[in-house]
Amino acid sequence: KRRRDDEEISSTNKQVPDHGVKVASHYNKLQEVGLAARSQSRIFFMRNFNNWLKSVLIGEILEQVRGAEPGPVSVLDLGCGKGGDLLKWRKGGIDHLVCADIAEVSVEQCRSRYEDMRRRSHVREKIFTAQFITADCSKELLSEKLESTELFDICSCQFVYHYSFESETKADMMLRNACERLKPGGFFIGTTPDAFELVKRLEASDSLSFGNQIFDVSFQSKGSYPLFGCQYHFSLEGVVNVPEFLVYFPLLEHMAKRYRMRLVLKQRFWQFFQERVKKEQHRSLMAKMMALETYSHEDPGQPSEDSTGEYCHAKEYCGRAGVKLPVGTLSRSEWEAASIYLVFVFQKMS
Ligand code: SAM
Repeated sequence: KRRRDDEEISSTNKQVPDHGVKVASHYNKLQEVGLAARSQSRIFFMRNFNNWLKSVLIGEILEQVRGAEPGPVSVLDLGCGKGGDLLKWRKGGIDHLVCADIAEVSVEQCRSRYEDMRRRSHVREKIFTAQFITADCSKELLSEKLESTELFDICSCQFVYHYSFESETKADMMLRNACERLKPGGFFIGTTPDAFELVKRLEASDSLSFGNQIFDVSFQSKGSYPLFGCQYHFSLEGVVNVPEFLVYFPLLEHMAKRYRMRLVLKQRFWQFFQERVKKEQHRSLMAKMMALETYSHEDPGQPSEDSTGEYCHAKEYCGRAGVKLPVGTLSRSEWEAASIYLVFVFQKMS
């Protein structure tokens, strides 16, 4: 029945081609650049902001996992990329990590980063064990490739899930890979663009695209949005320019019930930021990651100009006044891009 549904969906979409190959070759071609080059990028602060957000999220979830059951912690990083989160897992003191991604070159870079990390670590530091898998996680079953039969405490899927919403079969396979090997009480966490926000901005635009000097989102049509295969192009400073698909969140929530997953948190980035930044520990991490000397939530100081000469005005992108951004850091353009995203946490019911 599901195959028939997919066929119906793709026929209404005039046959969406398989984008897995495009995605893999795009990410395989991306070069790793050093800190000096990264700091020159117009999305330097946005990358740092995203990393801050992921660090806080990962820290919170690890705390919950350990609070519920002390013992070894095992994690699946679904769509791990080049291993941008390896240090976060190291800092979190986990015991085992499985890294999976469709892009072979990225998986190899992730593996060598991990090996490097192990080599350079202090003899007394116990670094987690790891397995690396190259697989299209929206087509292949990961459990068949795992070295052990262990269950995961956490599956982390950062900036990845939207690639799978090409069809119901793919979205379901990705979800199955994320959730079927989770322990009862385990978490599926991630970040993805908010479909409502994308559609809102598209509908407000007088063309089929919107964006600014750092990002561009373009659709093929507007007015009607199929549940699967609703494709758009997202390009961000040449970092991502492969097709993505709208993730209609209520549908994801519904689909997740098949795997006994219950939604426990869904927040837009600005909401997550606003709540977490109240804590001193998160504020000082923000300051460190943004390479600021000081960052005060109470008195964030004067907003700095970005390259367009405009200021950060959070309320324009958050729909609410009073959200204090890491001003002096994220430019208005970066915030316009970052505020599209949401963070989610599902938990497996016992
Ligand atoms: N999670 C990493 C991070 O936060 O830095 C990488 C995010 S990057 C924007 C998206 C990643 O998703 C890429 O590494 C890409 O290869 C991977 N990806 C996309 N579709 C995938 C699929 N079907 N199976 C596995 N990985 C996929």
